[in-house]
Amino acid sequence: MKALALFSGGLDSLLAIKLIQETGVEIEAVYFLQPFLSQKEERKVVSHLQNLISQLQVKLHIIRLDDDYLRMLEAPAHGYGKAFNPCLDCHIFFLRKAGEMMNELGADFLVTGEVVGQRPKSQYKTAFPIIDSESGLAGLIVRPLSAGLLPPTIPEIKGWISLKHCPSIQGRQRKVQLELAKKYDLKFETPAGGCLLTNVEYGRKVRDLLAADGMLTSNSLRLLSIGRHFRFSPKYKGIIGRNHQENQELFRYFYARRWDAHLYLLKALGAPGPLALGLGEPSSEDLRNLSLLTIRYSDHPYQSKVSVKILTSGKDHQQATFIEEKTDNQRLIEKFRIN
Ligand code: SF4
Repeated sequence: MKALALFSGGLDSLLAIKLIQETGVEIEAVYFLQPFLSQKEERKVVSHLQNLISQLQVKLHIIRLDDDYLRMLEAPAHGYGKAFNPCLDCHIFFLRKAGEMMNELGADFLVTGEVVGQRPKSQYKTAFPIIDSESGLAGLIVRPLSAGLLPPTIPEIKGWISLKHCPSIQGRQRKVQLELAKKYDLKFETPAGGCLLTNVEYGRKVRDLLAADGMLTSNSLRLLSIGRHFRFSPKYKGIIGRNHQENQELFRYFYARRWDAHLYLLKALGAPGPLALGLGEPSSEDLRNLSLLTIRYSDHPYQSKVSVKILTSGKDHQQATFIEEKTDNQRLIEKFRIN
């Protein structure tokens, strides 16, 4: 007997795997990697997951999600949480994918670390029947942490497993999970940050992007984690780096697409300061506003005259210079900043 576990990197899914291993079932695990993390973030996540799962000697499949995940994010049937997190649809999406993998791997059922009543929307008891039926996997999703509170699943009814040793956890309390972690000597550590889609500020930037572009891409979403974002018009936005690493990332983004149209790289000359990336089709006023903000965040003193070099992508690689006095430009920040 074999099961495929959805691994989230948290203690709950670690325990769920352990509890099913106790029944003698062989387990493989899968983690779905969101397609908009930076390379650095991806490496951090993967190494964290591998450290955790190595305690259980389970084979871990890491699957990077692609465009169909982004299409789901654009219009989730069950709506969003407090940020841009469509948790119910996201769970259903993960389970559908896991269901396909289950068949490919010859597994008999799925395992998740979901707990009744732990999180809004996706993990209330009432959400489980929706998740089960919309994923097409009713009866095949085993949730050992809340086993005693849920109707028996096919693996239990058919006698493949017994979940008598499993707890009946409900709600947000962590007491039972911590006791089980101690019992099984499992080390765990919640990675800082969590899912980007639950971050309200990130969510605002995603909404802005979707409203302006009409669709999401991995590249455009990845940029949302870098720098300060300004929306000047539906056709033009700017990103200003906040530190050396972000400036490098903005430069790399521009350089990799330097032959494409509609990209602008801006830098205030003569003093340390950020790089700014313009995306889209700016009016001269839009370009001026991004230049003023690039000056604003440079180290030049206020009231000094500053030159900004503007490089345009495309075959011609045009260059322009804009000269203006530095002021605090709070009005522009308040008017255009997306946050
Ligand atoms: S927290 Fe993020 S990854 Fe988890 S279900 Fe919600 S949207 Fe999906």
